Amino acid sequence: MPEGDTVWNTARVLQRALAGARLTGSDFRVPQLATTDLTGWTVRESASRGKHLLLRLTGTDAEPWTLHSHLRMDGAWRAYAPGERWSGRPAHLIRVVLRSPAAVAVGYHLHELALVPTAGEESLVGHLGPDLLGRDWDAGEAVRRLAAEPDRTIGEALLDQRNLAGVGNLYKCEVLFLRGVSPWTPVGAVPDLPGTVALAQRLLAANRGRWTQSTTGVLQRGGTSYVYGRRAQPCRRCGTAIRKEELGERVTYWCPACQPGVELPRNAQDRPR
Ligand SMILES: [Zn+2]
Repeated sequence: MPEGDTVWNTARVLQRALAGARLTGSDFRVPQLATTDLTGWTVRESASRGKHLLLRLTGTDAEPWTLHSHLRMDGAWRAYAPGERWSGRPAHLIRVVLRSPAAVAVGYHLHELALVPTAGEESLVGHLGPDLLGRDWDAGEAVRRLAAEPDRTIGEALLDQRNLAGVGNLYKCEVLFLRGVSPWTPVGAVPDLPGTVALAQRLLAANRGRWTQSTTGVLQRGGTSYVYGRRAQPCRRCGTAIRKEELGERVTYWCPACQPGVELPRNAQDRPR
């Protein structure tokens, strides 16, 4: 699942494939950019901000522009050598193709694809909280933003990219398990909020540079998480069956024994049994 680390890795793939290159062709397959042609433009750098990708270019008139994309649940960028077969995804998912003399970058199922003046990037990413994998990561600011809404559940607050940018559902579930905190705990009742934020940052940072996301240290299939994706399977610590319930707009996984404090989520209590 694309979370901050996956987006960081993707930005690096694009950096290696395209940075410094003059584009020899582009093919946008989204209505809003259908007539855009980046031929002759130069790619300056590729960066990530939370779960957003920013490909910074210089136009033929030397003006700086940014091609923005978001992977959401299913998007991906792949880089190929010229002439190499595009093996990533079905062709109908292609949203953009960027060609340089040395590489072809193909964007599959990208969301929020937009070309904006670099000076206007903030209109797309200015709402984001501190980036867990950014050079300007500010743990204190992330804690301050989280703590500003003490009644909100920690499970929802960690996913809100305005608080801190980069945590998705996998890391949310895993961080709360490792901290022994129920996802339904109000932010104001989380025992050590700075410790929770610090752990989230460490888990994302540990997964930079590889595509298999693991919070357990195990990279083999089936062993990479403590609770995420493990409904009804035994907790790796205590053997209790892992549970899965809706929390806000997403599902959450947790161990009711290792993460006590809230017996049952409200929505589960309300549901006829
Ligand atoms: Zn447990």
